[in-house]
Amino acid sequence: MKKLIALLLAAVMTMSLLTACGGGNASETTSDAAEAESTENEAAQDEAQAPEADEADTQSEPEAEEGETEADAEAGDVSEALADGVLTVGTNAEFPPFEYVGDDGEPDGFDIALIKAIGEKLGVEVQVENMEFDSLVASIGSKVDVSIAGMTVTEERQKSVDFSDAYYEAVQYVILPEGSEIAAAADLEGKAIGVQLGTTGDFIASDDIADSKVSQYNKGMDAVNDLINGKLDCVIIDKNPALVFASKFEGQLTAIDGAEFGFEPEEYAVAMPKGDTALADQVNAALAEIKADGTFDKLVETYIEN
Ligand code: GLN
Repeated sequence: MKKLIALLLAAVMTMSLLTACGGGNASETTSDAAEAESTENEAAQDEAQAPEADEADTQSEPEAEEGETEADAEAGDVSEALADGVLTVGTNAEFPPFEYVGDDGEPDGFDIALIKAIGEKLGVEVQVENMEFDSLVASIGSKVDVSIAGMTVTEERQKSVDFSDAYYEAVQYVILPEGSEIAAAADLEGKAIGVQLGTTGDFIASDDIADSKVSQYNKGMDAVNDLINGKLDCVIIDKNPALVFASKFEGQLTAIDGAEFGFEPEEYAVAMPKGDTALADQVNAALAEIKADGTFDKLVETYIEN
């Protein structure tokens, strides 16, 4: 007991010593503050003397005002694509969990929720058009303003569209019948491979795998059905859809990470009309906000992890 009291006493003494030191600092801080205040006053005087210079400054670098979102502040010009208050978005709702047709018959999924959140930040309505994946890139800037469709950034596509900052890392997977002997890149040579038309899985199967017999489908799920029916040796498709599709045939199909076959990581981004830097700036600013405020993580949880 005595020991405890001694300890407590020591603690109290240490604390009062610390407070004393703190007091010293506090007075220093006060004088600092006073100094800062006088500097501020000088700045205010400068401002009064040279208003033009300051105005020019404001124009070149707009600062975020209170209540204004980062997306508003960073975007200099407003893109023409947004001028009508509607962002039309092309997707291919055959790619779960990123896009699929929901119970109400409308496109739903991670990408759809993400682009709606982007639209909200930009203060525009989002209208989603469901179309074939292979026609998306050509439709951007004409039939639709932008596209979100688990679309991988590729150099080839960059010749006709611009991409936003990437929002998701992916890789191609190989879906195999249970017990398949395919286990490495060399085993894919000469095989009957199902892919979704015009996708990176298609490019790998058609361009990189020797002697492959590639069947191109508009819907990845149709390729998986043909795999089940024995018409194909494997299906090459993005990781998350591969996991969703294979899980529909548990015990019959397995989905293998394409890294084991030497496939490179890929990045998804929003595809936009080439040269519309105003739109790109606005979409990127909105995306950054969505990542910073926790919305993005919530969407990952809701649509991908669960
Ligand atoms: N990520 C692939 C690509 O961009 C597949 C996208 C998709 O089928 N929706 O080609």
